[in-house]
Amino acid sequence: MTRECPDCKAQLRDVKLIDATAHDLLLEGCQHVDLAYAAPEANRSFFFGKIPALGRVRAQLCPECGRMLLYGESSSPKQDPEAESRG
Ligand SMILES: [Zn+2]
Repeated sequence: MTRECPDCKAQLRDVKLIDATAHDLLLEGCQHVDLAYAAPEANRSFFFGKIPALGRVRAQLCPECGRMLLYGESSSPKQDPEAESRG
């Protein structure tokens, strides 16, 4: 989906976020990260030790003013039913 910058109406570009959390100097800045989001009440899974994610975070950057926008994309296990009918 193409979105416009709310400020200058330029077309946003998809960008990857670069990992700056690694404490290992060799790894810092070398990896991109796929951010995810979770429900506010979500706790770490007893079983997996991870917080169950509701979806991924998509980052888009305005090439004009540099504004960055983050969108949550639900990670539903179902396939998009519209995708098949469009084909
Ligand atoms: Zn802009």
